[in-house]
Amino acid sequence: MTVPVFRFAPSPNGHLHLGHAYSAILNYRAAQATGGRFLLRVEDIDTVRCTPELERDMLEDLAWLGLTWEKPVLRQSENFLIYEDALRKLEGMDLTYRAYLTRAEIKRFVAEQEAAGVSWPHDPDGAPHYPGDRAVLNDEECRRRFEADAPFAVRLDMRRALERVREPVTWQECAAEIPSNPAGAGWFEARKIPADPAAWGDVILARKDTPTSYHLSVVVDDARQGVTDVMRGRDLYHATSVHRVLQVLLELPEPRYRHHRLILDVDGRKLAKSDRSTSLRDLRTAGFQVPDVHERIGILADM
Ligand code: GLU
Repeated sequence: MTVPVFRFAPSPNGHLHLGHAYSAILNYRAAQATGGRFLLRVEDIDTVRCTPELERDMLEDLAWLGLTWEKPVLRQSENFLIYEDALRKLEGMDLTYRAYLTRAEIKRFVAEQEAAGVSWPHDPDGAPHYPGDRAVLNDEECRRRFEADAPFAVRLDMRRALERVREPVTWQECAAEIPSNPAGAGWFEARKIPADPAAWGDVILARKDTPTSYHLSVVVDDARQGVTDVMRGRDLYHATSVHRVLQVLLELPEPRYRHHRLILDVDGRKLAKSDRSTSLRDLRTAGFQVPDVHERIGILADM
């Protein structure tokens, strides 16, 4: 078997919390148990919300947890040209279009449809499917925005993309807990999961001011970095459907996927970067030690 490559890919748009600690430690230990590699990737395509200070704090928090990773770290904001290449490839296949509607316009249109009794589709994250410019704007306004070079997003035409892919899209889902050391063969046994990309509608691939999107850059980088095992939270389980379609279209290798449990707050809710009570920095300031973090996230502290 080739050497497994794991990665932890946080966005420095806030401070890391206990959920990030769980994901990072899981990937780190999996690399150790399989004789694999552990990479850290800085997913900072949102150059407004992601700052160098937050990135510095993030690396410091991860080092405090006792993790080490290969250098240099891949920073997505330094690779926009590479994602643009992938976008051009999809454009060249005639699978993309410019979408000029603003968020407010989409929201208003969908609300009107729903008020009129139409059951409008929403993606697994709850966002309404894109209605298409022509459903909302007249020809003249569509032309005006094009000629005025108004801000737009580039979207994947999912129907055309799936026609091109032809066969049903699937992914390989494997275990997502800390493997015994060394990891047995069972840890690499996969279940085939049928993907449902159509549930996402026409996903965004790029915006006028950010020449990529999470979906596009994540698949390009997992391939570029030779990631064999994408282990991440269950909140990204359904996004795998989109990632697999992009991998097929861009002819990228298929990694194994592992979606781990989420660390919840006392009320059973997903942790948020804005909630200071679970931020690693605040816990540290309050006197927490690394074994306390391990206890809070329910893993054995035998690193
Ligand atoms: N950057 C994403 C996040 O902060 C994670 C991406 C992934 O693991 O696929 O949630």
